[in-house]
Amino acid sequence: MRIMTNRRKSSAVKVGKITIGGHAPIVVQSMTNTDTADVESTVAQVKALARAGSELVRVTVNNDEAAAAVPRIRERLDAQGIDTPLVGDFHFNGHKLLKAHPACADALAKLRINPGNVGRGSKRDPQFAEMIEVACRHQKPVRIGVNWGSLDQDLLTRMMDQNSRLASPLPALDVMREAIVVSALDSARRAESLGLPSDRIVISAKVSGVQDLIAVYRNLAARCEYPLHLGLTEAGMGSKGIVASTAGIGVLLQEGIGDTIRVSLTPEPNGDRTQEVVVAQEILQTMGLRAFTPMVIACPGCGRTTSTYFQELAQKIQGHIRHRMPEWRKRHVGVEDMTVAVMGCVVNGPGESKHANIGISLPGTGETPVAPVYEDGEKTVTLKGDRIAEEFQELVERYIERTYAPVSR
Ligand code: SF4
Repeated sequence: MRIMTNRRKSSAVKVGKITIGGHAPIVVQSMTNTDTADVESTVAQVKALARAGSELVRVTVNNDEAAAAVPRIRERLDAQGIDTPLVGDFHFNGHKLLKAHPACADALAKLRINPGNVGRGSKRDPQFAEMIEVACRHQKPVRIGVNWGSLDQDLLTRMMDQNSRLASPLPALDVMREAIVVSALDSARRAESLGLPSDRIVISAKVSGVQDLIAVYRNLAARCEYPLHLGLTEAGMGSKGIVASTAGIGVLLQEGIGDTIRVSLTPEPNGDRTQEVVVAQEILQTMGLRAFTPMVIACPGCGRTTSTYFQELAQKIQGHIRHRMPEWRKRHVGVEDMTVAVMGCVVNGPGESKHANIGISLPGTGETPVAPVYEDGEKTVTLKGDRIAEEFQELVERYIERTYAPVSR
């Protein structure tokens, strides 16, 4: 893995068993979309997200039923051996819920507070203070989570007015970006003045445009040492959401900015919520910042491959690796660093396969119907017939057994 020599300095914040910031690896997190009051569905989804690799899972706490359910969700997860810390997402009534449900505050590893949604006018400051007091009392870290869509309107109006009085007013977009940063930093400093230690504060400032995200986080990074939670809000569906999140998060990570990430994808109806975890891991792994699961290198195919055979094989291998990884991780040290190549023909197949730990070069159109396999740069066997996929999977299993040391127990 690449060592980021330019990683921005930040304080280390403990969130249950996880550390965000300092020298800790960049943390992957996600959020449930179940009704938190529905304990069974929420437990099942947290479990799926945790199994996919989410290191923190956020749940909505929007009413008394949800707040009462949180300790039961925690208990059920603990009973099943799932110790992934839970983060509570509070808006509007968080101050009341946290006071009325101390067991909820206890069961959560972190509170997310949106300063734009804690109350308007004269209610804002006391309600914010009530939530920070609960965090102090229960010794919980807080994410000050500003969001473009719920920016503190009093602050924005004030800053717009001040700007309009300048001899050369800034464009409105610049004022909005600055208001997001000011809202986050002012709220964090206010939390500190209320007794929350600086090493219990994480900041996020989520926007929905890539250029806005980059501008806002560069600014935040230069002005504080709180760990930063990166992510686009409302990134969108399908490839658009993935591409936009990757573009924004990728630029910032490359500059050493960001201590934890979430990829906020809108799932397809009844789609798999764990996709956001897979994408977040893939951003970190393809950038060489962390390794989670063996990487499959597959060529895109071209006119030299007239069948879909190699695409199916690449998909099968990728699926097999994801399915087997939880078990491999328990049994073998460093298996997540493995690379597997699945290539479509002789043009780049042998070369790419030799660079991978283990690779297969399938026959292209008109080539002899055989598939040479390379392990650590050497050709070891040539597969042929109808069971190439299964035999290659067996070779991958044997390679892992042979190459990666057993985990000591
Ligand atoms: S390896 Fe062969 S099949 Fe794959 S893209 Fe290159 S030329 Fe095409």
